[in-house]
Amino acid sequence: MIKAMLQEPLGEKKVRCNVCVHRCLISPGKRGICQVRENQDGVLYSYADELISITSLDPVEKKPFYHVLPGSEAFSWAGYGCNMHCDWCQNHSISQSNQLKSVNSPISADEIVAGAMVVGAGLISATYTEPTVFFEVLFDVGQRTHDFNIINSWVTNGTITPEALQLAGKYLHAANVDLKGANDVLLKKHTGVNPSYVMSIIRLMKEMGIWVEVTTLVIPGLNDSTEDLETIAEFIADVDFQMPWHVSAYHPAFRHQAPPTSGATILKAIEIGQKKGLKYIYAGNIRTEKGNNTYCASCKTQLVSRRGYNIELKMDGGVCPTCGLSIPGIYNSQRLK
Ligand code: SF4
Repeated sequence: MIKAMLQEPLGEKKVRCNVCVHRCLISPGKRGICQVRENQDGVLYSYADELISITSLDPVEKKPFYHVLPGSEAFSWAGYGCNMHCDWCQNHSISQSNQLKSVNSPISADEIVAGAMVVGAGLISATYTEPTVFFEVLFDVGQRTHDFNIINSWVTNGTITPEALQLAGKYLHAANVDLKGANDVLLKKHTGVNPSYVMSIIRLMKEMGIWVEVTTLVIPGLNDSTEDLETIAEFIADVDFQMPWHVSAYHPAFRHQAPPTSGATILKAIEIGQKKGLKYIYAGNIRTEKGNNTYCASCKTQLVSRRGYNIELKMDGGVCPTCGLSIPGIYNSQRLK
């Protein structure tokens, strides 16, 4: 347990946590919504250092990042806990727990970075659950990746506060942000957070020079209307029409057992994105030649072939070999800021 960053002491020993959008006001003896941060006699402590226990070497495409070192491997890390409680969570066994307890052999920031170096991973990725709630470790990992010139990335629901992002984002190179929909009322009901908030964080990341890819898990009846998909695509195009958009098919999980998303709906989303001017749109959780490969936005040459996690790179250094167009993204660590 460590003293929490970004805490704001208030009267009667209450403390506000300013790490994520919830800005929990926490009374002595209580924890925040994420269950990771606890007020002990007027001081907020974080269990982040005791809850990180999961590491895995994944294809970078699994995060998904399609414009960050395509074909490389990401040293992935995660802890137990989350600040959302989505009914359809694919990782609910680690993200959701009424009574989080410390794990037996927690992994430190030093060990995460050392692990990535030992296996020669192209990047480090905070993923599976919401990394923001483990802010102290997230910050430390970022600082160390900076020291070793390794790419640091987050897979996040975009609920971090602007001040927390300004602090840890100095060491962040790439983020895949989960934009769950466009309907504030509906999404607030299901996730506790307005998508318009997440959109503001995507804009801030872009302003900070962080490479951003957006993922939307398309769920029938929740966010698959033409209007919703158009709103999301318009938003991304307004921020940067070259920002990749991953439209992923939902499959029943956890407490949400509605039928899975059809391939036709995913193809509809891709067409909507194209009409709104997006240049890089990808299908997730279904295989389609149209939606899995990367093509040059100018001459349409195939630049990356993806069959599952079999990746064939047909360009060098992010440049189209046919027309010379520079493909946005991170293609070698020399481009780290
Ligand atoms: S990080 Fe946890 S305690 Fe802090 S505001 Fe978010 S949910 Fe609340």
